[in-house]
Amino acid sequence: MKLIFLGPPGAGKGTQAEKLSKELAIPHISTGDIFRENIKNQTELGVKAKSFIDQGLLVPDEVTNNMVKNRLNKEDCSNGYILDGYPRTVNQADFLSVIQDIDKVINFTLSDEQIIKRISGRRTCKKCGAIFHIMWKKPKKQGICDNCGSQLVQRSDEMPETVKKRLDVYNQQTSPLINYYKKKDLLVNVDASPSIDEIFNNVLDFIKN
Ligand code: AMP
Repeated sequence: MKLIFLGPPGAGKGTQAEKLSKELAIPHISTGDIFRENIKNQTELGVKAKSFIDQGLLVPDEVTNNMVKNRLNKEDCSNGYILDGYPRTVNQADFLSVIQDIDKVINFTLSDEQIIKRISGRRTCKKCGAIFHIMWKKPKKQGICDNCGSQLVQRSDEMPETVKKRLDVYNQQTSPLINYYKKKDLLVNVDASPSIDEIFNNVLDFIKN
């Protein structure tokens, strides 16, 4: 099954995609994670993407489209995948429609206020990437990763000002995709405010029907 997870930053797409990826045994492809991995390894792609990401802006379509095309050509995508954070512009969606047939688009909905609260409280492990939250998923020891004992930091694109910028970008460039996929009769809306398990059950219901 070829799925797209759409929705604003902080809606929990990544958490849900990870769970669903295990349930359906298909890869979870997060363009944000691929960029971050490339930045960490200081690849050419990482260098190109970093300044955009740090400012809360989108990486140019051409760079992103190429990266996704290469990823989807890999063997593990032959039975399907979950795209998390792609497409994010109409241009990307048009590009994807030429190379792939998508089965369903799940649109996670959440208010701007909740988004800002969620993202600006996130803390990420510098070493293993595990994610915590200062209110809802506190580490056992403040500022220290439960998994590997390394320091937890606030990602530069998760500072309140950058989150606001990312939301503006989402509203201007990505939200038109809601209508785009509605018109193609592929879209289902899922409320992203209940518990992780409740949201997951709703996602499963939509996918099975
Ligand atoms: P995410 O973790 O999905 O919120 O992505 C983090 C950042 O990576 C975004 O704010 C963008 O700068 C960049 N990014 C991720 N996916 C895309 C995409 N499909 N198009 C352009 N930029 C992207």
